[in-house]
Amino acid sequence: MPPRTCQFCQNARAIIRRPKTGDHVCKECFFNVFETEVHNTIQEAKLFKPGDRVAIGASGGKDSTVLAHVMKTLNERYDYGLNLFLLSIDEGITGYRDDSLETVKRNQQQYDLPLKILSYKELYGWTMDAIVEQVGRKNNCTFCGVFRRQALDRGAASLNVDHIVTGHNADDIAETVLMNIMRGDIARLGRCTLICTQGEDTIRRSKPLKYAYEKEIVMYAYFKKLDYFSTECIYSPDAYRGHARSFLKSLEVARPSVIIDIIRSGEAFEVAQEVVIKEQRKCSRCGYIASNELCKACTLLEGLERGIPKLGIRDGKRKKIEIEATEPDGPLRTIPMFKLPSVMENSQAARTETTAPS
Ligand code: SF4
Ligand code: ZN
Repeated sequence: MPPRTCQFCQNARAIIRRPKTGDHVCKECFFNVFETEVHNTIQEAKLFKPGDRVAIGASGGKDSTVLAHVMKTLNERYDYGLNLFLLSIDEGITGYRDDSLETVKRNQQQYDLPLKILSYKELYGWTMDAIVEQVGRKNNCTFCGVFRRQALDRGAASLNVDHIVTGHNADDIAETVLMNIMRGDIARLGRCTLICTQGEDTIRRSKPLKYAYEKEIVMYAYFKKLDYFSTECIYSPDAYRGHARSFLKSLEVARPSVIIDIIRSGEAFEVAQEVVIKEQRKCSRCGYIASNELCKACTLLEGLERGIPKLGIRDGKRKKIEIEATEPDGPLRTIPMFKLPSVMENSQAARTETTAPS
């Protein structure tokens, strides 16, 4: 078969078939279309304004490395006027995070961006290695997720930034939609596709790679020869997400648009929420925003320190194992009321019409 020419420039040889669209493109056109799509995502969501100080959550992995590269490229190309920083969290995972942080340090030199690294050890007095030693490998990601969220907020506050961007990609978001459907977690389903979130007193967070396919991120990093770390976390047992991931991958083989379709479906779910204002307070132990006496991180720390690590962890049936302090942080509690999106109402109406006796 003769070599194909690029569908975009009609000139160079196409060496890439885009996983997202099936288009045959040359390397330069692939870079261009990938970056332009991220730029369009940023523009449509009005993520930034000139002068914003933006921290890029940098782990050294492919997603955040591509994000840092693309943010720097777009900031210069389109004159966003952003002050960019790299912000890394050291969870204290020997053989994983120590190596990936070396990659981030090289990225700092390559992209010439200021870097701040905060560790769980300095913030909480515990490394993930020590936590896993105590809690085992079952709930470790719960600890890690709660601690990382707060660590990023603290790092961002110390850099005096307005905004944190993270490397979550389209596959991550589609997986989360599937997981929330499978768990029946309608409140989260309504929120998990949001490109930008901000609670009261917490820093704005957004996901500029929200519509970027993981396979294209890997291709972009590969063809740009970016320096990234590709090993998985040694404590990564999120079995439930693993099921959603393999299900999504098998769907993607049959229908590549499924990733975007699932995200669009998640976006279309309109969740009308009755908002109950809950008293906002500061954690009595660390001062972080909390909806109870202790923030979520300090509740988990108390459990670790008292040798009852399940304090603050919900069991699989979503029942509280321990009291009061297990409530999620945040000033608001929401009671979701489910509403079908109009597109589904329409298609249901159409189905009813076609199946109705004539
Ligand atoms: Fe932390 Fe779990 Fe991610 Fe490892 S896989 S970095 S333990 S959240
Ligand atoms: Zn606290």
